[in-house]
Amino acid sequence: MELTTTTLTNGHHHQVRVSSDQLKTEVRRLARERDAVILAHNYQESDIQDVADFTGDSLNLAKQARATSAKIIVFCGVHFMAETAAMLNPAKLVLIPDLQAGCSLADMVVPHQIRQWKAAHSQGVVVCYVNTSAAVKAECDYCCTSANGINVIESIPADREILFVPDYYLGTYLKTKTKRNIEVWKGYCPAHAVILPERVDALRDAHPDAEFLMHPECGCLTKQMDLADKILSTEGMVQHVRTSPAKTFIIATETGILSRMQKDNPEKTFLPASEQAACHHMQRNTLKKVLWSLATLQHRITVDPTLARRALVPIERMMAVS
Ligand code: SF4
Repeated sequence: MELTTTTLTNGHHHQVRVSSDQLKTEVRRLARERDAVILAHNYQESDIQDVADFTGDSLNLAKQARATSAKIIVFCGVHFMAETAAMLNPAKLVLIPDLQAGCSLADMVVPHQIRQWKAAHSQGVVVCYVNTSAAVKAECDYCCTSANGINVIESIPADREILFVPDYYLGTYLKTKTKRNIEVWKGYCPAHAVILPERVDALRDAHPDAEFLMHPECGCLTKQMDLADKILSTEGMVQHVRTSPAKTFIIATETGILSRMQKDNPEKTFLPASEQAACHHMQRNTLKKVLWSLATLQHRITVDPTLARRALVPIERMMAVS
């Protein structure tokens, strides 16, 4: 693939054509020179996954962020993930290639709503999905990802009432699985909400031998929980398709993950449960922006230390459970 970039010579702008391979070589060179580690979420475009030192889901990336000895972390994902990396590594420089890469789901709950619930439920425990801002995490007791949600809920004393924020579908899944007294917030991810049960039914009818893998944020979850062969986090899906004897898979999650699956398993077929299940926040990061980020050391993500101290409590509890 060819990309166009602009250079300035003698006061004139010039359009220069560079291949994505040239860009990738330059990103890797600069990452080495800067002592930077590049972390990429499974939903990032394949060019970014190609240059990343580690690709994974939020939990794995948080662990990688904590373990790295590099001076700089370029976080190719969305804002709350970079915030988590910054809180776990206050001495490191954490960069995000596009500051507008947020998360619509994370924006569906704000700190004062948690404080209100806690005021009305003095014995209540609040569990937040990792897709929340640092300010929301600071009000919560536990954090979880889709990979460890069940373990986190089960680590809480059985007599406690629980509020789960912000994802309705993941919360409903956790409530069903753990049979605990959980009030579920009504937030949702717009990318996963477009995965509809009717479309999944039609795909399953057309491909009866295909395995159906579903992410617990999906809009079809409440109707199709019993039909899914596996309900998995993105990393769980990536691992599962490697070892499964199935040749065809219907994948119900953000479509960015399919390129990694296809690359890892060229002999298998991967069908998106919805072509529309694309996250426009994740897509804001591009290879060119990763290069820009390394060159300019922008955009820096920092979290106020007092806020970070409080927000790290639920994160550390999660890390201890999983
Ligand atoms: S896919 Fe949904 S939950 Fe994930 S970052 Fe995008 S908006 Fe947020």
